[in-house]
Amino acid sequence: MSEPSPTHSPIRHPFETPPAQGEAVELAEGILWMRLPLPMKLDHVNVYALRDGNGWAVVDTGFATKTSRRLWRALMEGPLQGLPIRRLIVTHHHPDHIGLAGWFQTEFGTELVTTRTSWLFARMLTLDEHAVQKEETLAYWRAAGMDAEIYEKRLKERPFNFADVVAPMPLGFRRIQEGDVLTIGNRRWDVRIGHGHAPEHATLWCRDEALLIAGDQILSSISPNIGVYATEPEADPLAEWLESCERLSQYAREDHLVLPGHKLPFTGLPARMRQLIDNHHSALARLVEYLETPRTAAECFPVLFKRSIGDGEYGLALVESMAHLNHLYQSGQVRRERRDDGAWLWQRV
Ligand SMILES: [Zn+2]
Ligand SMILES: [Zn+2]
Repeated sequence: MSEPSPTHSPIRHPFETPPAQGEAVELAEGILWMRLPLPMKLDHVNVYALRDGNGWAVVDTGFATKTSRRLWRALMEGPLQGLPIRRLIVTHHHPDHIGLAGWFQTEFGTELVTTRTSWLFARMLTLDEHAVQKEETLAYWRAAGMDAEIYEKRLKERPFNFADVVAPMPLGFRRIQEGDVLTIGNRRWDVRIGHGHAPEHATLWCRDEALLIAGDQILSSISPNIGVYATEPEADPLAEWLESCERLSQYAREDHLVLPGHKLPFTGLPARMRQLIDNHHSALARLVEYLETPRTAAECFPVLFKRSIGDGEYGLALVESMAHLNHLYQSGQVRRERRDDGAWLWQRV
C-alpha cells in the first residue's frame, strides 16, 4: 500500500539520490548502496556491499536477468574494485532478492548465507516449473473472487515461474537464525528474524553503529506487501507481520539509518514502525465496517487501498486483500461463505 507523506514527517531520507545503474553510493564507511532494475511497477531493488576484509559481503541480488548479470559485472569492476565477493547474504526468498544467488555461488564461489526457510522456499519454487496455471492456484483465485476478465487472461498466459527470474540454486548454504551475530569487516551484526512479508526474513542490526539492513521487512514510503498464496490459503501472515513489528520495535532507535530492500534509506525508525502497524489496524477497521454487506476479497480493494488498482498491481492487491480477510476471520471478526463460483463472501459477525 502506498501512503501520503506528511510534510512534518519524523521520517528522513539522508540520501535522496539513488545510485545510477552500475554505480554505488557510500552510506557509511565501507557500505555501498546499489540498485538493480525490475521490470515491474516497483522498478528497482536495493542491494548493498559491505567491505569484508580483502573482499565484500553482498546483501541481496536482483532478478536473474541478462541485465542484472551485466550490471553486477560492471559493479564488480567499478565500485567493488575487482575484489572478490566472499559472502552473499540473502534477506528473504523473493526473486528480486535471491534471484542471482545460484549464479554467485557457481560463477564466483560465493558462500550463500540466508535463513533455512528462505533457502528451502526459493529452491522448492525454482524447481516447481509449470507451463500452465496449477489447479490449486486457479482455485485460490476463484476463492479470492478474481475479476473474470483477468482470470480468463491468466488462464491463457504462461504462469509466473520462479525459474524464469531465479538462477538454478545448487545445494549448499550457510544458515543464519535469530540471535546469531555476523562479523563483517570490523562490524558485528545481530540477526533478527521477521515474518509476514516472507517467512523467516532476516534483518541485520549493527552493534557498533546505528545501522539496520531491513530487506523488505521494514520499508519507508511503501508498506511491505503482506500476501496469502495458494501454498497456504488459510495463512494469517498479517498477524505474524504485526507480531514481528512489535517485537523488532523494541530495538528501533531514532538515529538508525535503515537500509531497505526498496525505495530510500531512512531514519526515524520508531515512528515508521508505529505508522506501519497503525496503517494496518486502520485498514482492518475500515474493512470490518465495509463488510456489513458480504463481499469478495477483490471487492474490498477500494476500502483497503483507497485508490484504483491497475493491472500491474492487481495480483499483489488480491493476495494482500486475502491476508487482511484471513486475519479478520482467524480473529473471529468476520465469517465467510462459499458463493456458487467458489468465491468466499466475507461478512462481519
Ligand atoms: Zn520481498
Ligand atoms: Zn523486494
